[in-house]
Amino acid sequence: MTELRLYNTLTRRKERFEPLDGKLARVYSCGPTVYARQHLGNLRAYLFADLLKRVLRYNGYGVRHVINITDVGHLTDDADLGEDKMEVAARKEGLSAWEIAEKWTLVFKQDLEKLNILSPDVWCKATDHIPEQIQLVQSLEQKGFTYRIDDGIYFDTSKDAHYGELARVNLEAQQAQERIEGASAKRSPADFALWKLSSREGARRQMEWDSPWGRGFPGWHLECSAMSSKYLGTPFDIHTGGDDHIPVHHTNEIAQAENAFDVRPWVRFWMHGAWLMFERGKMAKSKGTVVSLDGLEAQGIDPLGYRFFVLGAHYRQQLNFTDEALERAQTAYARLVRHAVELRQAEESADADQVGDFRARFRDVINDDLNAPQALAVVWEVVRSPALGGAEKWALLSEFDEVLGLGLSEARIEAPELDARVEGLIREREAARLARDFERADQIRSQLAAEGVILEDTAQGTRWRRA
Ligand code: AMP
Ligand code: ZN
Repeated sequence: MTELRLYNTLTRRKERFEPLDGKLARVYSCGPTVYARQHLGNLRAYLFADLLKRVLRYNGYGVRHVINITDVGHLTDDADLGEDKMEVAARKEGLSAWEIAEKWTLVFKQDLEKLNILSPDVWCKATDHIPEQIQLVQSLEQKGFTYRIDDGIYFDTSKDAHYGELARVNLEAQQAQERIEGASAKRSPADFALWKLSSREGARRQMEWDSPWGRGFPGWHLECSAMSSKYLGTPFDIHTGGDDHIPVHHTNEIAQAENAFDVRPWVRFWMHGAWLMFERGKMAKSKGTVVSLDGLEAQGIDPLGYRFFVLGAHYRQQLNFTDEALERAQTAYARLVRHAVELRQAEESADADQVGDFRARFRDVINDDLNAPQALAVVWEVVRSPALGGAEKWALLSEFDEVLGLGLSEARIEAPELDARVEGLIREREAARLARDFERADQIRSQLAAEGVILEDTAQGTRWRRA
């Protein structure tokens, strides 16, 4: 059996994966900041985590999966400046920050369900874990990793000899740049906030807590170090996120956790999903270039059609979002569903020897750092294979779908889609008959019959019904 190999951002290599305890893979995925609806780019990050989880299971491992909800502390600027995104949204929408968080968390979970993303074992939110985060800062403080300036308690990156290894950050170059640009109150530009103090003047924040340093709120990176370790223990197996997390968020998570918990490496594998690109830019809420799952559904795109589209690119490849590419994926997905519906009823068997061969090829590609595009290619080969009987094809497809999550076992041919397709074929058949191409006309009749659609030619034209 091919071993599972995963690309580890930490080493920039594909490495053999086995859970640290040999059985249970412990996985943490950085979750959404719930100040707005998650866009299709964000959702790609969770489709990637879901594929990973399904592949781990396919390899016979148990999985314990944790996703967090960021409902405080994520500022509009990653360098500890700007305002808390939650507080800004609350002002704009005329709701409290708590109501905003609840509203968008709910929508996010519904979107995951529509995409057939398996629920994590643990959902945890930052505001429910303030004591754990304070404790983590205290531990860093005792070990001499912190300093205080006007607006908060900061992590002193110069004290951590391993700082920046994940991103291969060059601290000296950054410091030189800082000298050119003029110093901020931070000792080094890479230093980051652990606890931000509520400002004494200015508007009162909705989300703030007492702490040993004064009233305030946790820095964004703190929650992930604290909650992942609480629910998975240390060290744990895999931490996922988007590419954008490498230089700041994950780099800082590592600095906090390794020094507070005295464990290195704190996480064995760091895995990052590439961006969804939109008109040559990154899809981003802040840029207004955003499409949501709702928007797709309104365009007649099935959420699983979007899942199929995302699987068409390797998770480490940027993917361009265009209407044409998405429609092509939706059409191909609908075609796959039609095959699945037909094959689900198939009884005939043929050469069972071939099954093992397809299965091995599927496992080879999916175990090679989750190569979903090639896995889909194997799916199509199975569908088209002249050597396999219907029963074997369905056995393979349903097995592969445990990994791909395209819902093939439950999928139905959607009534409107079926209608449009049948109507189209009937028109084509009429045109063929007018052109006296009876062979094509008969072919269309038998093709539809195979899909369970019966044609009746009447004086008023051709009618159809389901068998
Ligand atoms: P956020 O809600 O901003 O904290 O982001 C949630 C997740 O979406 C993170 O894992 C980001 O890395 C990821 N993400 C944000 N924008 C994109 C994008 N355009 N393509 C893929 N992933 C993204
Ligand atoms: Zn995180």
